[in-house]
Amino acid sequence: AQQMLVSSEKLSTAGQLAASVAHEIRNPITSLKGFLQLLETGIEGKEAYLKIMKDEIEKIESISSELLYIAKPSPNEFEEANIIEMLEDVCLLMRSQARLDDVEVVLESDLDHHMVLCDRSQIKQVFINLIKNAIEAMREAGTITVKITYDETLSIEVMDEGEGVPDSLKERLGQPFLTTKDKGTGLGLMVTMDILKNHEAELLIKDREPKGSIFQVEFL
Ligand code: ADP
Ligand code: MG
Repeated sequence: AQQMLVSSEKLSTAGQLAASVAHEIRNPITSLKGFLQLLETGIEGKEAYLKIMKDEIEKIESISSELLYIAKPSPNEFEEANIIEMLEDVCLLMRSQARLDDVEVVLESDLDHHMVLCDRSQIKQVFINLIKNAIEAMREAGTITVKITYDETLSIEVMDEGEGVPDSLKERLGQPFLTTKDKGTGLGLMVTMDILKNHEAELLIKDREPKGSIFQVEFL
């Protein structure tokens, strides 16, 4: 079974997003304030509190940097670019992160050259987000395969060996702040889907046998 992911117009309106951003940032700020008050009273076990405070600050930091994409003032910069070379760059970049988790990133391609009209840095961001999710989905050593095929349309599949996406979550993917991770922001797929929409490309999700998922980008 495969499913096409479409961004929800309703949820991506500025007002709704602003409300959820305020909410997501207020939680860590409230907790920071509480811990600061505790520290002022000079309690024991400072280190543990400082560690939590650092985590909360990091959370605000990652939310802010992902939101910068949405607020980005510069317009799209579309140009003809070799997508195979761009994917080679992204795989190389992600390998250093994957290696820490004993995960390999393999690129399989029918072609070594294929030009696509795109905003380079945005399309790179799409595959960074998908490969990052793939790495995070794998609990043990294994392989992520990025498979490029061309048959009337260009298709790029990011295939992992993780736990897969539960059906109940599939239709909600791309909603802002939807995350199942302790340190997740739940913004990666929203940004990914927005970029792909600007490129008239589609994102499909499929289950992988025997385990894992496939996030497929199809350029129309
Ligand atoms: P984040 O990675 O910060 O949680 P994303 O928008 O990138 O936010 O992903 C949202 C959620 O979708 C994740 O928390 C996870 O539950 C699910 N997900 C995304 N990619 C995968 C994948 N490859 N395998 C399993 N679950 C995934
Ligand atoms: Mg992510």
